[in-house]
Amino acid sequence: MPQPLSDRINSLPISQTLAMAAKARELKAAGKDIISLSLGEPDFNTPDFIKDAAIEAINQNYNSYTPVDGYVELKEAICTKFKRDNHLEYKPNQIVVSTGAKQSIANVAQVLLNPGDEVLLPAPYWVSYSAIAILCEAKFVEIPSSIDDDFKITPAQLEAAITPKTKMIFFNSPNNPSGSIYSEEEYRALAKVLEKHPKIFILSDEIYEHINYGTKPFSFAAIENMYDRTITVNGLAKAFAMTGWRIGYIGAPQWIAKACTKMQGQITSGANCIAQRAAITAVLASPKKVQFMVDEFLSRRNIVLDLLGKINGFKLNIPEGAFYVFPDISAFFGKTIKSKKIQNANDFSMLLLEEANVATVTGDAFGAPNCIRLSYAASELQLREAIKRIKEVVS
Ligand code: GLU
Repeated sequence: MPQPLSDRINSLPISQTLAMAAKARELKAAGKDIISLSLGEPDFNTPDFIKDAAIEAINQNYNSYTPVDGYVELKEAICTKFKRDNHLEYKPNQIVVSTGAKQSIANVAQVLLNPGDEVLLPAPYWVSYSAIAILCEAKFVEIPSSIDDDFKITPAQLEAAITPKTKMIFFNSPNNPSGSIYSEEEYRALAKVLEKHPKIFILSDEIYEHINYGTKPFSFAAIENMYDRTITVNGLAKAFAMTGWRIGYIGAPQWIAKACTKMQGQITSGANCIAQRAAITAVLASPKKVQFMVDEFLSRRNIVLDLLGKINGFKLNIPEGAFYVFPDISAFFGKTIKSKKIQNANDFSMLLLEEANVATVTGDAFGAPNCIRLSYAASELQLREAIKRIKEVVS
């Protein structure tokens, strides 16, 4: 039977993070003792005070369609949060609530990008940025960085990557997959370059904002001259252990928010009503209420850095946020391990899956072909065991 799929879907790469997580699940179901360090997903339960708000919403019969851009109470709560955490003044008509930050980003790309526009992606970057650009028939342009630069780009690199076709930059700090955080000074230096190019929009993905280990993340829109062309993206998944609840949001110039609402009105009608009610409670809660998770992630990060640092061939930096380590493993390229020739990060990641039963994600998926990503959103026991297995395979 012919399968006449559209060129659009045929041109779209599969999400490597989700594919690896699915593979790990499949192997586990088949009886293999897999430790999955593939998915960026907190292994905590959603805190009780948020679950209680959702239960109350169900009991109060919140079951109808919500406004496409979200309940007004939630949008007001998000404005309060932006002011409290980011010194950003948004009005509710500048906020759009979506089914996860991924949809927020896809909306923004759909409403701003035309075929042939260029999107700058400081690499490493989250897997779906490039795919979302491809769906808009835009061209993504990588700006490379390496572990020696702490995976951060410089203003000179940014300047060199800009062409008359550049329409947007997708910026992400704390970064997935590297965990790097740009300081306020570094933001301002990049903004100086962007000031000279007023037609470029900035999508600032701040989803890992609360998961930082001391370097307080900054917001692009907080810089004078940047506010009017920045779309600030955030969501509840990471800080509140609410990945499956699917709530993301943007703060943006009102005309962009309006266009995103129009787009969303034809695609999903808006985010789930119960999750939105619970989100009001989550967003208004003090970040201190979820600090225990951040403390735990920090302790795990230190364990992972210590243990991986003892394996020859793993080059590490110190990630300041998120819950990933992103070692450069290019020292293994050209070697044969367990009769498998390692030519690239894909081969290495597959080696770890097949020989150590540890699932990771290849750096190729993030535009960084010398690295692999390990998520330490897993228990200390699992992390210790996983790294022990990795060491046994590669030593
Ligand atoms: N953002 C997470 C990750 O990078 C979840 C999976 C995804 O949506 O890519 O692992």
